[in-house]
Amino acid sequence: MASPVYDSDPRALLKSLLATIEDEVIPLTSKGVSSGNKLFGAAILSKAGLVPLTVSTNNETVSPLLHGEINCIQRFFSQTSFPDSSDANKLPSSQRPNPRDCVFLATHEPCSLCLSGITWSGFDNFFYLFTYEDSRDLFSIPYDIEILQEVFRVPAVPASSDLEKREAEGEDLDARPLYNRRNKFFTARSFEDLAREIAEKHEEGESEKWKDEIRRVKALYNGLSDTYQKSKTSGVDSASFWK
Ligand SMILES: [Zn+2]
Repeated sequence: MASPVYDSDPRALLKSLLATIEDEVIPLTSKGVSSGNKLFGAAILSKAGLVPLTVSTNNETVSPLLHGEINCIQRFFSQTSFPDSSDANKLPSSQRPNPRDCVFLATHEPCSLCLSGITWSGFDNFFYLFTYEDSRDLFSIPYDIEILQEVFRVPAVPASSDLEKREAEGEDLDARPLYNRRNKFFTARSFEDLAREIAEKHEEGESEKWKDEIRRVKALYNGLSDTYQKSKTSGVDSASFWK
């Protein structure tokens, strides 16, 4: 069965993603940050109907690998019904949706660990509210960028014919994107990308309305960030090395 065209109306998609963050992810993350976890959350929605099936938040006080996205994937593959709630229409775990029929939502642009986790699990898309630069500049968490730059970014080996030219010019590593946002495995889009799609398909004013809505939901993270930063300075016990 072909997947439904879940993104034909970027307004409906953005509305569901923002509501999932506000109503489902943030309540979990509020509890998580008060016990010393980072504020990164994730959810998996059905492409059909855009219903949240699985919702998770970071739990790295237990293990440094339990990022919001990885926690969400683990839960998706172990939960006993879909959605993971008291919904009367839920399906048993034997009818777990195919990842290809799901939308993956990350509150923050996924790190290298989570990019791999999403890819290996077979999700063909993800959407994120905050970019890597937001994580670094607004939340004082620079490691997404630093790990991609230090571990994965290898300078290109120039062909021998243009070696001298390339050496003379120098390679501008900083101009290269940190990963392929469109590739064989997935397409990654930020909420700002969806707002741009709304502007292309509808009127500019419509897009501005959604940009305001994105700003409003982003602002809900201010208090969560303060709580997390306080836990770092007060030395809450965490398994995470990079805080
Ligand atoms: Zn991650």
